[in-house]
Amino acid sequence: MDGGRAFLLDFDHTLFDTDRFFWVDVPAAFARFAIDPQVWEESYARVWPTGYSLEKHLEHLARGKAVGSSDVAAIQRVLREHFADLRGYLFADVEPFLKQLQEEKIPCFLLSFGDPAWQAYKVNGARIADFFQEVFTTRRERAKAEVVEALAKRFARLAVVDNDPRELDVIKARRPQVETFWITRVPPEALKSSDPEIQKRFREARNYATLPAEFPHHRCQSLEEVSL
Ligand SMILES: [Mg+2]
Repeated sequence: MDGGRAFLLDFDHTLFDTDRFFWVDVPAAFARFAIDPQVWEESYARVWPTGYSLEKHLEHLARGKAVGSSDVAAIQRVLREHFADLRGYLFADVEPFLKQLQEEKIPCFLLSFGDPAWQAYKVNGARIADFFQEVFTTRRERAKAEVVEALAKRFARLAVVDNDPRELDVIKARRPQVETFWITRVPPEALKSSDPEIQKRFREARNYATLPAEFPHHRCQSLEEVSL
């Protein structure tokens, strides 16, 4: 056993404002080149199952003639310039929280769901990989519990922070002693809003916030509410 306390943190919608990045700023960058938002979204759905990247998405659009071949290089430049440094998409409390864990020598692990290369692009762009003892990526839903199993054998007090209560439920069912924090980054008023702009701004995160949970989890809106 390695020892006492350890943290396992989810990435998307927990540390990283994925909605603002992917559903607001990335489409806006593409829209500058007169790419129809609907075409953008449909092509996203096509590319996603093959392992997503912005470059692949662009290639797909170019093949389908949704992007003129003369625009491809210009778009690539925009992607490189605007979306290489993704630190601005971290929620404001993330770095202070990770630094505090580091100072107190509390081991911290990152667990993200999605295509490994795409997740690595976001984590590296956010410049936080060095804070973690290990970065895990899984493509299967509900597979996080397996990582938790392995860590729970190593640490007496393990805490998990995630925006998806279904993942936390599976963890709790298998390891009741693991502390679970269900974080919701969506402001309460935005959860109920019927304004399409607000719905787009919190497009994915809103869905998780209202899911039913089988087990009680600590609910929070910020990492400042997560006790070390
Ligand atoms: Mg998440």
